[in-house]
Amino acid sequence: MEKTEQKLSLGEAFRITRRGVALWRKAAPGLFTAMTASAVVTAAAPYVPLWFTARLLEEISGARDPQRLTVLAVLLLTAGTAALLASAACQRWKQSKSATRYSDEYEMIFTKLLDLDFCLVDDQKTYERLSQVNQNRNFGDWGLQRLLENYDKLLGGVIKVVCAVALSVGLFLLPVPAGEPLAWLNSPLCVVVMMAALVGASVLSPWLYTKGNACWAQAAEYVKQGNRSFSYFTFIGMKERERAQDIRLYGQDDFFRHGAENCDGMLFEDCPVAKQARGPMGLLVASAEAVTRVMTGLVYLFVCLKALGGAFGVGLVSQYIGAVTSLAGGVSDCIRTAGDLRNNAPFLSQVLELLDMKNVMYQGSLTTEKRADRQYEIEFRDVSFRYPGAATDSLSHVSMKFKVGQRLAVVGENGSGKTTFIKLLCRLYDPTEGQILLNGIDIRKYRYDDYLAVFSVVFQDFQLLALPLGQNVAASVHLDRQRAEQCLRAAGFGDRLDALPEGLDTYLYKDYADTGVEVSGGEAQKIALARTLYKDAPFIILDEPTAALDPVAEAEIYQRFNDIVGNKTAIYISHRLSSCKFCDEIAVFDQGQVVQQGTHQELVACAGGKYEALWNAQAQYYTENKE
Ligand code: ADP
Repeated sequence: MEKTEQKLSLGEAFRITRRGVALWRKAAPGLFTAMTASAVVTAAAPYVPLWFTARLLEEISGARDPQRLTVLAVLLLTAGTAALLASAACQRWKQSKSATRYSDEYEMIFTKLLDLDFCLVDDQKTYERLSQVNQNRNFGDWGLQRLLENYDKLLGGVIKVVCAVALSVGLFLLPVPAGEPLAWLNSPLCVVVMMAALVGASVLSPWLYTKGNACWAQAAEYVKQGNRSFSYFTFIGMKERERAQDIRLYGQDDFFRHGAENCDGMLFEDCPVAKQARGPMGLLVASAEAVTRVMTGLVYLFVCLKALGGAFGVGLVSQYIGAVTSLAGGVSDCIRTAGDLRNNAPFLSQVLELLDMKNVMYQGSLTTEKRADRQYEIEFRDVSFRYPGAATDSLSHVSMKFKVGQRLAVVGENGSGKTTFIKLLCRLYDPTEGQILLNGIDIRKYRYDDYLAVFSVVFQDFQLLALPLGQNVAASVHLDRQRAEQCLRAAGFGDRLDALPEGLDTYLYKDYADTGVEVSGGEAQKIALARTLYKDAPFIILDEPTAALDPVAEAEIYQRFNDIVGNKTAIYISHRLSSCKFCDEIAVFDQGQVVQQGTHQELVACAGGKYEALWNAQAQYYTENKE
């Protein structure tokens, strides 16, 4: 199913590679210029001393003019050193430009993911694609990284060939003097055989090598699962701080070890990849090396015989041997890299598939009016929703209206559709049927970022970052310190803030700073609430962010929050009815439907209703709150 198993046509591989180059040019300006300079200078540099050494040897074995010898020796030293220095400087330039190449790739991918509709990011297929791209990169730098390496090698190979040809033409043109026993070396047949052997070996060796390497490329699909398991069990499973307690208490290290050792797709001794490596793959790569060695021996023989026959002096022997050997190396590099580029094209196409993903949700252009009176009204009009691939609706014919300033509670058992309702409200998904309206206009018609600015949400599984407290509250590196402090105090974090050594600049957790502080679950919730207040959006949604707290503590937080949200609309989601009884309006969800709506008093008085049943069932847990 994956393209890695197919061989792409040359044209297609070329087209994909060109797109990859264009992506890099945009993501890392100047990188290709630095790589080009480095490849050209580094490949050409060794020929400079080779040429001067040959001249020097010629002089030593010939006229031995002391003045000329001195000039040549000085030139050899200075030009050779200059070439090396230039090569080192260019390589350093390339290194500095490519130092960020991995983060550049991550940035390309993360920017895309952030830009994608949430429903696509939430889709298993997107996750599969992303994980395949990551695995390809971890496995052998396949994809965007390999393209850079190949460009470097291919260009270096071409320059090597050009320089080597320039320095080795004399080998075939200078004849052994007529009458010499080795004059047969001048025969065109001999030259043709030698050329054919050179070209043949230069082509055969990289062909064998590329074939051997292709086995790796084909194995990518097999090791995908193994790589995933390896990452899970090692990088995530064993290292994540929050899992450390569970691992110790339940002895999960045994489980992780077992898991890591028994996953299909891992590179064990008897797995298909290892068998390939011991068999055809190893043989092909070894044969490639053998062909190169035989060819080098042949070149030595040919050059030495011609020198012996008197075609040229000892100085040129070193030049020709050096040039022809690196000619073969250059041709070989070019062919190998071209083959590798082709092998890489399917991996690159997987990156492009991810980057080319198109958003599916309609993007409107209306701006949400920045109303001074903040009079916003939201209406759910007969909204139904089914998750992609699900068999049943998670929301069914929900109709509801709420205005700024109201306190709305959405209650119901787990799985009744409360979070789905919020996801639709925040337009993470669009309804399958029906409409959601903001001030009478379908929310799809608004600009998405404008629409999102109307909401502030604390999700159930909200996350804080291991960054300074103030930045966490502002959700930005630029913060209004006074406002951040006010919000933290309003959220009940004031005492803790006063006790923090560096106040707003105190790092949370210890990931980045030794001075970082650990915050409890309750404190983290207060920080998350402060972040919500800081955003100052007209609608605030609390989606059971207090689920880890006991019912009494949750009720207290909700009540306190109610006091500080002022004229904003607050929507409280909870499966604990006691937390929400102060709300103006309570919507009771059951199996994706709103089955009751009203105040706490009205609903609890409605005998036989869902609310009354839930209330009675939960009352035993918070008797002190019972009406
Ligand atoms: P609640 O917030 O009330 O606990 P949810 O809105 O999370 O309920 O879930 C409502 C229903 O939708 C449940 O049956 C749940 O299994 C299903 N559901 C939630 N998220 C997804 C999803 N991403 N894909 C498929 N089904 C989902």
